[in-house]
Amino acid sequence: MNKKMLSHEIVDGFTAAIREQQIYLCYQVQINHSTGRMVGAEALMRWEHPDFGLQLPSDFIPILEEHDLIYSADIYVFESVCRFLRKCLNDGVPIVPISVNMSRYDVFNHDYVEEIENIRNRYGIPVKFLRIEITESSAIGGMKLMIDVIDRLKTRGYVVEMDDFGSGYSSLNILKNLNVDMIKLDIGFLDGGIRGRGGIILSSVVQMAKWLGTPLIAEGVETMEQADYMKSLGCNYIQGFLYARPMPEDEFLQTLRQTEHEPTVPAMRLIEAMDAGKFWDPDSMETLIFSNFVGAAALFTYQEGKTEILRVNEKYTRELAMNLSAQEVIGLDPRQELDEENWEIYESAIKKAISSHDEVSCETWRNLHSKCCGNDHICIRSFIRVIGCAGKQHLIYAMVQNITAEKKNYRDLYDSDRRFRFATEQINVYAWEYTFATKEMRPCFRCMRDLGLPALVRNYPEPLIEAKIIPEDFAGMYRDWLRRLADGEEHIEGVVPLTIGRIPFYFRYTTEFDETGKPLKAYGSATLISEEDG
Ligand code: C2E
Ligand code: CA
Ligand code: CA
Repeated sequence: MNKKMLSHEIVDGFTAAIREQQIYLCYQVQINHSTGRMVGAEALMRWEHPDFGLQLPSDFIPILEEHDLIYSADIYVFESVCRFLRKCLNDGVPIVPISVNMSRYDVFNHDYVEEIENIRNRYGIPVKFLRIEITESSAIGGMKLMIDVIDRLKTRGYVVEMDDFGSGYSSLNILKNLNVDMIKLDIGFLDGGIRGRGGIILSSVVQMAKWLGTPLIAEGVETMEQADYMKSLGCNYIQGFLYARPMPEDEFLQTLRQTEHEPTVPAMRLIEAMDAGKFWDPDSMETLIFSNFVGAAALFTYQEGKTEILRVNEKYTRELAMNLSAQEVIGLDPRQELDEENWEIYESAIKKAISSHDEVSCETWRNLHSKCCGNDHICIRSFIRVIGCAGKQHLIYAMVQNITAEKKNYRDLYDSDRRFRFATEQINVYAWEYTFATKEMRPCFRCMRDLGLPALVRNYPEPLIEAKIIPEDFAGMYRDWLRRLADGEEHIEGVVPLTIGRIPFYFRYTTEFDETGKPLKAYGSATLISEEDG
């Protein structure tokens, strides 16, 4: 009897559908698997068309989104939920928080937050009974917009949930930026099986969520085995066919009357959620996540003005870009790298993280030294969290980003390249340095200006070959030069025609070695071969 509607039938019929109440809601309960009590429910849209029968949201919602009709639909759903909750409150029916779905299109060109606030106030529903579900893909439309919407929802007291979490690895990064209160993990991708890879991914994600201090709801749970497995991972909240399918309003009303309720536990404090000792166990899940699933991160202790790095992951040393090994970083006191002013900024961020139990971010300039790169001045943005404490000593987890490039403006760059620039501008040569270990090339000001190169060229010389600055028929020879230099040759010279104009330049390379005789960098220069020379 149910017939799938065509796109134009959906668009044409939808306004009447709302007016004539063909659109209605089903509710699907969320249960604490450990206690059997209800902790919430999700409102799901249904469309019973008089001619075409019941329509699935997955069929008509994308069409509504495409045609900017989803906003009125979602507002209609929100109001229906408020009306239902008002009725329950009036009749003395105990209620649970209801989650409603927000489409990312709801916030483009619409003041969604203002509108739902008006409705909620009109029905006098306490905000703790309403939750907003957003999806990871919402951020596609613009991270900033999403961060702003979440902020505004949270300021007004709404619990914000990340729906369909775990559909991609990028998730962890998005999660880091979107400050949600709860995560809904769709376990549909397990296809029933909890063993093997799926199970491992799942347990990492659960661990990650715990680590961030965010409660989880497992969605799409169909079997007792799945529910028990989720419980074993510490995720007790379940929404799925195992407990109940989405049910119409009157049936949900009965369920509300008959089932015991309990509140969802507010975000656990990391400090309680995490067993810091596990960080030292190389086989623990914490270690696995630390090394594989998060960005550049470090663990250090702080005690009365003293800091000491305990552990860093590989991405951390890469982020510093100083070619330091983890062994060289461990045991360092970051304070030594900071001047008075920057230490003050850093320490006050640590203190704030301690007193607020929250993540605090700051930006500090550091003086780093490594054998390979000498002294460097870099700017680090840190996100600091306290994850444990013993007496006056605090264990701190910091995610870091090297934002030096972001910070250094054109002027700085110009200055730092002075040694090159002066020489090269005078004698009319192009100059650059090439670091063997990282395959990074730093061009002089003139190269940047005339060839349009960035301040740092990675994977040199490939980008220049791709851009046809170095012609293809010379690429092989040129790569071979770099290989020979890396193998220890001290000088190489020769002619290379540059750009599609094939303008001939005389190239010279000189290698710099470290004290053990290992090649570190090559200094390159190129001079135009003028007619007279030839
Ligand atoms: P969703 O938000 O992820 O909703 C959960 C979907 O999973 C629901 O499908 C629900 O019926 C289904 N489900 C629940 N438990 C199980 C289970 O154990 N096994 C399986 N296989 N499925 C389960 P539904 O109701 O068809 O909704 C589909 C999607 O449509 C929703 O996914 C949501 O993205 C969207 N949607 C539904 N209502 C609304 C709404 O009011 N507004 C917006 N913007 N989107 C909505
Ligand atoms: Ca949802
Ligand atoms: Ca979902």
